[in-house]
Amino acid sequence: MGIVKNRIENIINLLEKNYNQKIEAEKEEIKNTINIAYNVIENTYYENKNDDKKNILLKINKQLRNQRFYDNASGYYFIYSNNGTSILHPHLPHLEGTNFSTFKDESTKLALKKLLLFLEKKNAGYVSWKWYKPNKNTEKKSEVKEKIGYLKKFAPLNIFIGSAKYKDDIELSVKKNLQELLNIIRYDKDNYIFAYDELGNTISHIKKDLIGKNRWDISSNGRLLMQEIIKKAFTTDGSYIKYLATINPSTKESSNKISYVKLFSRTNWAIGTGMYNSIIFENIKNKQKLMKKNLDNTIYKVIIYSFLITSFSLLIMILISRKVGDIIKKYKDHLTEINNTLELKVKDRTKELEDSKNLLKEMTLRDPLTNLYNRRYFESIIDELMSLSIREEESLCLIMLDIDKFKNINDNYGHDIGDEVLKKLADNLLSRLRQSDVITRIGGEEFAIVFPKTSIDGAYKTSEKIRKAVEKLEIKIKENILISFTVSIGIAIFDKNIDKDVHSILKRADIALYQAKDTGRNKVVVFNENKNIKSIKK
Ligand code: GH3
Ligand code: MG
Ligand code: MG
Repeated sequence: MGIVKNRIENIINLLEKNYNQKIEAEKEEIKNTINIAYNVIENTYYENKNDDKKNILLKINKQLRNQRFYDNASGYYFIYSNNGTSILHPHLPHLEGTNFSTFKDESTKLALKKLLLFLEKKNAGYVSWKWYKPNKNTEKKSEVKEKIGYLKKFAPLNIFIGSAKYKDDIELSVKKNLQELLNIIRYDKDNYIFAYDELGNTISHIKKDLIGKNRWDISSNGRLLMQEIIKKAFTTDGSYIKYLATINPSTKESSNKISYVKLFSRTNWAIGTGMYNSIIFENIKNKQKLMKKNLDNTIYKVIIYSFLITSFSLLIMILISRKVGDIIKKYKDHLTEINNTLELKVKDRTKELEDSKNLLKEMTLRDPLTNLYNRRYFESIIDELMSLSIREEESLCLIMLDIDKFKNINDNYGHDIGDEVLKKLADNLLSRLRQSDVITRIGGEEFAIVFPKTSIDGAYKTSEKIRKAVEKLEIKIKENILISFTVSIGIAIFDKNIDKDVHSILKRADIALYQAKDTGRNKVVVFNENKNIKSIKK
């Protein structure tokens, strides 16, 4: 008799395996659906990044509001902000904008709060909660039911999207699937699997017209047989039961039967199979052989069925994932395109920034009035010029130039005219000197000029030229009013033995300049250690 028991154990294992697979597939479907919508959100966001957040959300809603999916098209997307404000509520759009974080009903128990807490720890995942299930029959009030859903945060907009299935819908679909499976399982010619739910409704039977019918009250010789079968299944861990069966499919007469029933607890079904005594007695001699063959057969069939079902599920999974893969690929290509444009924009922007940085740097190194280099630049470059002079064994000269009696010009003609004089002088110096000469305005009307690769004679001659040129300059300030001015110049030559930094050479040039001022102005003086100052009077 162990044979029927084994059959049922195998069937229950098969059901269990299928149940789990199907539940996983149902959940996977929710997740895939969310990932598609997530891509829509991501794209919309990056395409409209400069738009304000409200408009981006409107664009997202427009694309997702009318999406319906899952078998019965009951699936929809909802979006909330991370603080619980409804953003997309396809069934009750007038509630969009309402904050649901404290929304409470006796049975919903702060459902949304549960989701918000879940998303505090995770960016995405499955979660279950209770929510109103819209009733197809509009007369009836909607009931609060358990939902299983998948949520995913989109951080740049501070929102999350979700979709869910009602747990009872999932269970119904899985049950339907298992029922179909049970009804195709056959072994031998007379044997079949029967299954009933706790109320005696027929789930599986060899006679197809009995499926769906309630058989709670069927009896045999005064025994309430169905109730007995169901009670055994629900109260034991599998039991044999002996009775007179209404019909033996091979003899078409009633016949004694021994069945084994066991509960499949996932769906609360009493699953059983039996053997007619007539067959048992007829085959008594071959019984052991037969039983062994039957067992092998069943195992073989179970293996085949499992294989078929697994392959089928796999095929479906592959098809679904291909379809999803295609969609994702399309979005990915699209994203890459967006990325490339963004990258180009970023490059342009970086160059602009680089340019303005350089401009800014340049500005801090120049004097705004004359556009000559300023003291900061002079100090930053003079050490390098002195080192270069040592390395290349070339002489280097520094001159200090100061406008004579400049105060008088300001006093007589005003500060603006003073500024004009400074600009004119700067332009003149720039046009007269070499590219490699560094001209800087280091004080109000004081200029320092570095002559690299220049001997003292060279520096002297150039200074003289400057002095003479300035002397001839005339600045027209009004009709008939021309002003002219002069400059005094002090020259020092770089000496690597004494000039460890710029101060000593500056000081020597200054002393020479002072000397020029002191001895009448409008002259060029070369610093001389022995006070043997070489000067030229005009
Ligand atoms: P000296 O021949 O001895 O050099 O006489 P000076 O008048 O040129 O020298 P002093 O140092 O007495 O005066 C320099 C004047 O330069 C004083 C200041 O008001 C003026 N000054 C300094 N910077 C500027 C500027 O940017 N614009 C104008 N217009 N005047 C300036
Ligand atoms: Mg001065
Ligand atoms: Mg002066």
